[in-house]
Amino acid sequence: MHFASDNTAPVPPQVLEALIAANHGYAMPYGADALMGEVRDRIRHAFEAPEAEIYLVATGTAANALSLACLCPPWATVFCHRNAHIEEDECGAPEFYTGGAKLTLIDTPHARLTPGKLEKAISFTGRGGVHNVQRGVVSLTNATEAGTVYSAGEVAALCTVAKGYGLPVHMDGARFANALVRAGCTPAEMTWKAGVDVLSFGGTKNGLMGVEAVVLFDPSRAWEFELRRKRGAHLFSKHRYLSAQMAAYLRDDLWLKLAARANAAATRLSEGLAALPGARLLHPSEANSVFAEWPRAGHRRAQKAGAQYYLWPMDQTLTGPDDAPLSARMVCSWSTTDEDVDAFLRLVKGKTTERA
Ligand SMILES: *Cc1c(COP(=O)(O)O)cnc(C)c1O
Repeated sequence: MHFASDNTAPVPPQVLEALIAANHGYAMPYGADALMGEVRDRIRHAFEAPEAEIYLVATGTAANALSLACLCPPWATVFCHRNAHIEEDECGAPEFYTGGAKLTLIDTPHARLTPGKLEKAISFTGRGGVHNVQRGVVSLTNATEAGTVYSAGEVAALCTVAKGYGLPVHMDGARFANALVRAGCTPAEMTWKAGVDVLSFGGTKNGLMGVEAVVLFDPSRAWEFELRRKRGAHLFSKHRYLSAQMAAYLRDDLWLKLAARANAAATRLSEGLAALPGARLLHPSEANSVFAEWPRAGHRRAQKAGAQYYLWPMDQTLTGPDDAPLSARMVCSWSTTDEDVDAFLRLVKGKTTERA
């Protein structure tokens, strides 16, 4: 019952097998390996973007921060949700890599920006001329930090606002596959056709050992990205081992199959929780995360039995009245089983013998 994060899951066998297959003979370094050619071809094909340039890095923080650095000068601002990963979980890397750009935080329900609130934030910024930070870039996260998903149409509506001000759009797609499977559109419709300029295309949360791709739909930014990646110490010399993982991820739609499994597990979990007395969902569960609250006694039983998840926000405690609700975040992965979910639901419900 491991629901702390999707990055607690193991690596699927296809990925390890691809690493072993890549581990013979010699391969040119720094992205000149043949497997990187396969990655480039497969991403261009999947996104119907023959011009796109694609680069691999090892963390989502690097993918986001390097992308934003290419899109936003130091005197400008990144428009994003208040709960965006770039704001809450990257230790200032976007500010550091951009050379000091600001983040302008927008508050909207379920971590989903709305065109109205985005427009308001953008129009408000830059009014003071030289005295303000300037308008820089819009960054969207899909799937969002609240486990919700923007449809292709919603992405397009936000991009239209950004483009109205001449601003580029970045998408943090650490869980892009989960969002895409849910939205049921094509990768192109979710990104460049909607107006997204740069995508952080997640791999790690969805089963890789540690690889994310940056997809630049506008290749004119490619050389700058390459320089920033090297300068930011994210150009890997034994690059074939990154390529091998990403190639395996893209073959036979593995990325979509893994995400579909994670999403299905989250649906089972969210529906099960929503049906329990005293429980309710805090956000619609549209991808592979579930945010819910239920009485403290159920948390005690689950945690005593070894279930792993975060109380969310984290400042809540298991000590206190039994029936007071505590809220939690649970994340399912490709390897979450129905048995895990059902065992967890039985514990929360409280009609089971507790496992040691
Ligand atoms: C996990 C995550 C990332 C990347 O995080 P790293 O720990 O740097 O790999 C980026 N964005 C979102 C929304 C995430 O959940």
